[in-house]
Amino acid sequence: MSDLHRLSIRELSEGLAQAKFSSRELTEHYLKRIAKIDTQVQSYITVTAEQALAQADAADAAIKAGHATTLTGLPIAHKDIFCTQGIKTTAGSKMLDNFISPYDATVVAKGKAAGLVTLGKVNMDEFAMGSTSENPHFGSTKNPWNLEHVPGGSSGGSAAVVAADLAPFATGTDTGGSIRQPASFCGLTGLKPTYGRVSRFGMIAYASSMDQGGPMARSAEDCAYLMNVMAGHDAKDSTSVQKEVDDYVSNLNGTSVKGLRIGIPKQYFNVQGLDADVKARVEESLKKLEEMGAILVEIDLNMTEAYVPTYYLIAPAEASSNLQRFDGVRYGYRCENPVDLMDLYKRSRSEGFGTEVQRRILIGTYALSAGYYDAYYVKAQKVRRLIQQDFLKAFENVDVIAAPSAPTTAYKIGANLSPTEMYLGDIYTLAVNLAGLPAINAPVGFDKNNLPVGLQLIGNYWSESQLLSVVHQYQQATDWHTKRAAIAEENA
Ligand code: GLN
Repeated sequence: MSDLHRLSIRELSEGLAQAKFSSRELTEHYLKRIAKIDTQVQSYITVTAEQALAQADAADAAIKAGHATTLTGLPIAHKDIFCTQGIKTTAGSKMLDNFISPYDATVVAKGKAAGLVTLGKVNMDEFAMGSTSENPHFGSTKNPWNLEHVPGGSSGGSAAVVAADLAPFATGTDTGGSIRQPASFCGLTGLKPTYGRVSRFGMIAYASSMDQGGPMARSAEDCAYLMNVMAGHDAKDSTSVQKEVDDYVSNLNGTSVKGLRIGIPKQYFNVQGLDADVKARVEESLKKLEEMGAILVEIDLNMTEAYVPTYYLIAPAEASSNLQRFDGVRYGYRCENPVDLMDLYKRSRSEGFGTEVQRRILIGTYALSAGYYDAYYVKAQKVRRLIQQDFLKAFENVDVIAAPSAPTTAYKIGANLSPTEMYLGDIYTLAVNLAGLPAINAPVGFDKNNLPVGLQLIGNYWSESQLLSVVHQYQQATDWHTKRAAIAEENA
């Protein structure tokens, strides 16, 4: 079969169960596509062909023996931020280019237990800090819709592999938008779960109070299958929550769009820099939801202007603390011929970290230092609370909140935005992480250059089922999520 990569997760699962094809055939099919197309997309940092085929054979045996789960034998790509036992985990950094984890991240372990086949590890912004996947050490991943453009970031490799049909779904992480923005730039569905829903064990830390893993795929249905594997309490992550996990697949029709109250924040649609095409497509998608029975309600989110400065204080502060462990002593990159301990620290860190990571470490260290801690860090934490309260107040009156995922579509590689310009592009995603809420991106059309536009729906805590369900119903009534990127069409 030559079109296995066009099948949905449900179709793949059924095909395997009915022995229409084997996991080995499916895995070989993807490995062939990767060998052929990824020279152009540059999404994989590591392809684990040999291990994947062994896992596929084991999956085929399990299917034959009747031990299969729904996803046994399906291939997946993991963001290179999830630790994989015996396979290099770089977090997109030269600092970890030689790092082979002695254990699997819980997300990876759960995937293995469910019978998923790991195709490899995919590119990202270094330590998940960024929005373009223009990686200083591993190169720029290309947007499958137009190879001159960025796929977004930091989970840009995860988005690119799915959009180019180089994996049927992928894991991503989202600290300030890194699932939703690349999903938006690449025409995919991506879910950032409530903080604490998915274990962070073995997920290399950026800003621990906001980091959260989640699924990236074509449709809400495909995401629901992966979410069923990823979600759940984990004794190894004290911030993961002991709360029953929904069956996201059976709940796909659980929420009715009819009567659903969708909040439209006034402030969000007057943001400077909001592209006219993005605004138009998002408004059209809301009109469609209205036709399907939703009630659009204008709301106020008064803290909007505080999102970017608050996040860009708290995230670097946490990053500067988390990244202290990379000192060239126990693991990771070590500079050559250090003359003394100070020289070892200094040179290992200046050679191992790229510019953006160093910038964040400096900002974060400054914000946490004596004398500035109260003025910056503590103040940002207070504003963070106000941002959360703003949302909670809004949710007294609406079920979900709508926004663009990003103010623009994918820009060109090398656009060389200043750090401030880059950070402003995160305006629509950051507050969700500051508040710990779940949110989803759904593709809703294209701009004049045929680049995808995304709608973001933000839900109240633990409303993942509801978000997936609303998007699922939108996707039953529209076909944006079925459109294929240029490079996927050329290699259909
Ligand atoms: N672009 C944001 C940042 O650079 C978000 C990244 C993320 O979610 N990991 O911090």
